[in-house]
Amino acid sequence: AVHIVGSINIDIITSLDRLPLPGETVLADATARLPGGKGANQAVAAARMGAQTRMIGAVGDGDAGRWMVQRLAADDIDVSGVETLAGEETGTAYIAVDAEGENQIIVVSGANARLKAPAPVNEGVLLSQLEVPVAALLPVFAQSKAVRILNTAPALSEAKALFEHVDILVLNEHELGVYVPSDSGTVDCEDYIVRARRLLAREDQAVVVTLGANGAIAVRKDRHRHVAAVPVIPVDTIGAGDCFCGALAALLDEGRCLEDALSCASAAAALCTLGQGAAPSMPTRAAVLDLLSG
Ligand code: ADP
Repeated sequence: AVHIVGSINIDIITSLDRLPLPGETVLADATARLPGGKGANQAVAAARMGAQTRMIGAVGDGDAGRWMVQRLAADDIDVSGVETLAGEETGTAYIAVDAEGENQIIVVSGANARLKAPAPVNEGVLLSQLEVPVAALLPVFAQSKAVRILNTAPALSEAKALFEHVDILVLNEHELGVYVPSDSGTVDCEDYIVRARRLLAREDQAVVVTLGANGAIAVRKDRHRHVAAVPVIPVDTIGAGDCFCGALAALLDEGRCLEDALSCASAAAALCTLGQGAAPSMPTRAAVLDLLSG
């Protein structure tokens, strides 16, 4: 199974002609309430890819928390590891988007920040991101015998303590730049490979760098594999990285090797850019296979 230790948020999204300046009030017509949080998004992606998926996280005891747990369960995700914390608020992202697609986001961590270290995971795949406390992830990564994947989003320097306990690190270009700044200023594939290798803490580890419309690259100590992105005309790329991670975890749980799983995860992520929002646009396995065979 795929075991996801991560954040559960509700996204409150408002579309505006123009974002407010400090001190300014602007009026909007409506808000949309969508399921979110990197952990929850990745869980939906893994489940739709066909994996038995278990979510481990925390929500508040109000309507938002109940709604998120229902949404996850509706995707056949095992929510028995989601704790409801009395007196806490469910994690909430307040998102404003202007007519050009530029955004401002405020994330209130709420219950996510109170998550306690779960028990070790000794089968299948363990997948986490950095919207929950590093202190809660450290023991589970250090003690689990599952395949351990860490998506270092958002990039936090204190998360480096986790790296030696990870089998596969997944990060995007921006996050790679935070951990290993580019000294040349060039951004070619060779440069990504050299910098990704600097993150390898053990010989048997791999680092995957996602490159948006340029695909993804898996880097090991002595070899690498690049896969091109599937060409699409994106509606919005929100959740593409989450989709990639969730799909990758599902494929590895089936026993596929990382290099073989890359093109399928990349096709899933391309499909995710064709729908609005994150969790709602995670594709099914059938849709991914269709795209790959078509
Ligand atoms: P993030 O969402 O974290 O910024 P990326 O932008 O690197 O991550 O996207 C993750 C993956 O999603 C990429 O590796 C690629 O497979 C897919 N993807 C993202 N943007 C596009 C795009 N414009 N066209 C096709 N695939 C895309």
